[in-house]
Amino acid sequence: MKELKILYLYPDILELYGDYGNIQVLKYRIESRGYTAIIDRYSIGDNAPNFSDYDIVFAGGGADNEQNILANDLIKYKNSISEAIENGVFFLLICGSYQLFGKYYKDVDGNIINGLEIFDYYTEAHPDRKKRCIGNIVIEANLNGLNTKVIGFENHGGQTFNISSSFGNVLFGNGNKFEDTEEGFFQKNVIATYLHGPLLSKNPELADYIIKYCLERKYDEIVELASLNDDFENLCREQLLNRFLCNN
Ligand code: GLN
Repeated sequence: MKELKILYLYPDILELYGDYGNIQVLKYRIESRGYTAIIDRYSIGDNAPNFSDYDIVFAGGGADNEQNILANDLIKYKNSISEAIENGVFFLLICGSYQLFGKYYKDVDGNIINGLEIFDYYTEAHPDRKKRCIGNIVIEANLNGLNTKVIGFENHGGQTFNISSSFGNVLFGNGNKFEDTEEGFFQKNVIATYLHGPLLSKNPELADYIIKYCLERKYDEIVELASLNDDFENLCREQLLNRFLCNN
């Protein structure tokens, strides 16, 4: 049976606002199509993973303290991660992990947490702890020709600069910085975003975009995913889009 292998990074440390839900959604949508979802977990002290063995690598969000805790461990895998990205492995990074794949994250106390420097963006938290980007957010994303509204929730002090290609344009909410027009970072096989939610539970199209990409890459064939009954997800989206985009 065809399968997709997912590596879940630091599930015990980077787990804010239910980001684990993204793994559950991927598992559900992969298995509902008759494929097998294999999910491995990695955290500090575990055997080093071979990132290129996986189809998807996922990491969630974390408070400044947690980012500090794991940064020195994550940096050990800079080359292996960089190679996996070059090889086309799909990386889905939420908030705190998004920040750590850039040059650095300057936390609210002014401490510099070195990032993997895989991407040129960098993030600096506002020195006023009360000044955070918090709230619902909607962006317009173009996923290689598929235009879709992506709905989420953001809660970050970090302001991210020097983004070469964003995940989407902000329709409601802040984005990479306070009142920004752009949100996240996107390249073919990397989506790094501030959107918690969990992200994929509110955006089934995005989940399927990732699954389709990974199956086509792994099995070198065009994949048309069977449709699932997303009536409930789409009803929720309709309510949220009306609330955030029509009443403002
Ligand atoms: N600690 C980081 C910030 O405040 C990331 C927060 C998060 O992952 N939600 O910007």
